[in-house]
Amino acid sequence: MGDKKTGWKELPEGDILEGGSSLKFKTGNWRNRRPVHILDKCIHCFICWISCPDNAVRVDSEAGKFKEFDYDYCKGCGICAHECPTQAIEMVDEQEAEK
Ligand code: SF4
Ligand code: SF4
Repeated sequence: MGDKKTGWKELPEGDILEGGSSLKFKTGNWRNRRPVHILDKCIHCFICWISCPDNAVRVDSEAGKFKEFDYDYCKGCGICAHECPTQAIEMVDEQEAEK
């Protein structure tokens, strides 16, 4: 498997990936909805960071603050928005967000 592959669509059917290679495959293009952070509502509890199955929530651990979503890897599952206690994450249509 070459290092040039960057998307899951480039993989042959039934391909077996080497272990620890997930960072090579940017899965953000699976997404049809994206999480948007609403700073005014955020209490920086990091529940979204703990909940994200794709490690796509970035936090500033020194400042104790939510930082950003990593849209290269976020698949748009919506778990972070579901778990956020203050509704500080809104899921929006991906195509609308790109306009
Ligand atoms: S779960 Fe919600 S309130 Fe907590 S850090 Fe994430 S966006 Fe902010
Ligand atoms: S939508 Fe899913 S993958 Fe994206 S940041 Fe939230 S929990 Fe992670």
